[in-house]
Amino acid sequence: MFNCNSINLLTFTYYLKVILGLCMTIVPLFFIEKIVISFIKNKEKGFKINKMFLKKQLKTIYYLISIFLLAFSLYNVINKDGNKCFMYATKDVLNDYKVAYNEVTKNSLDEKTKNNYLESVLLTSYDKNIENNKNVNIPPIETVLNNKTKTEETVKVEQLNNKTNDTTYLKETDKTIQNKVYVVNGKFYLPNYVYGNKASYSGVNCPSNPLKEGYNNPYGYNNYFYTRLTKFVEAAKSNGYKITISHQGCRSYKTQVNYYNTMAKGRAAQPGYSLHGFGIASDLEFYKSDGSVCPYGRTDSSCPSMGWAHKNASKYGLTFPLLHASYKEDWHIEPLTKVRY
Ligand SMILES: [Zn+2]
Repeated sequence: MFNCNSINLLTFTYYLKVILGLCMTIVPLFFIEKIVISFIKNKEKGFKINKMFLKKQLKTIYYLISIFLLAFSLYNVINKDGNKCFMYATKDVLNDYKVAYNEVTKNSLDEKTKNNYLESVLLTSYDKNIENNKNVNIPPIETVLNNKTKTEETVKVEQLNNKTNDTTYLKETDKTIQNKVYVVNGKFYLPNYVYGNKASYSGVNCPSNPLKEGYNNPYGYNNYFYTRLTKFVEAAKSNGYKITISHQGCRSYKTQVNYYNTMAKGRAAQPGYSLHGFGIASDLEFYKSDGSVCPYGRTDSSCPSMGWAHKNASKYGLTFPLLHASYKEDWHIEPLTKVRY
């Protein structure tokens, strides 16, 4: 019905909602009060209930019911499924949106970037409201202005460029959807981020008991991704390297919100975007030959297990997409090929 990309429309919707809300609460109360007062006054005068008096009260009751029903039906007609604008139009969201709107006007952005940013503000702000989590911050505009930076939130279709012979994973085809993800010819299909459609966000469908829900692992990783990871880690082992995968196979939306707010700017993906929430990303731990963990600041040569991993990931249908990102994450691994559906 509406889209919320206009601040005027959002403001209008907010006030409409307020007025309809009043018509369903305060206005009927006002009429009820009016009736009660007339009865009291009537009683003071000797309590004569004549036709005139009753007619007057009935008229008030008629107005009361009419206004209530009118507001109630209008509210429900507008608030039907699909009208996200009406849903989002709350005072807090409106305030956040105004701030964001000023930001985008200050920085002359192209339409698409502008809309993406405003949408993400609406979404984050709305989530803040429904989850009553006042710690959720509005994404800083830098995340949008800096959109050339490749971080976890940037998921691009990566072309397969694998010159090895091991291509068994390319035969993987299973259209059974697991946590919104399915696999065709070794490519992972995951939902495109659809504004207002929470089902498309990452982290909202994590299994609560993976092994009982058709997962082949207790962590909540996508089955195919987990199989690739396992093969990869085993191959490392047979080459004398120790690598472990994180036991958080599927990161919930709330956890991502928490990371986003507590980690350095740009470090964690914007909530709803991380591939961790679809069970198709893992953060690896690399070990030295003496069994200790390679500390941060490591390089492929100072940490040979990591060097092996970076060199051989593609053979197992895996990739380290953030190796050359501004916020370098040498531990973050994903399937080699992702397609948004
Ligand atoms: Zn990661």
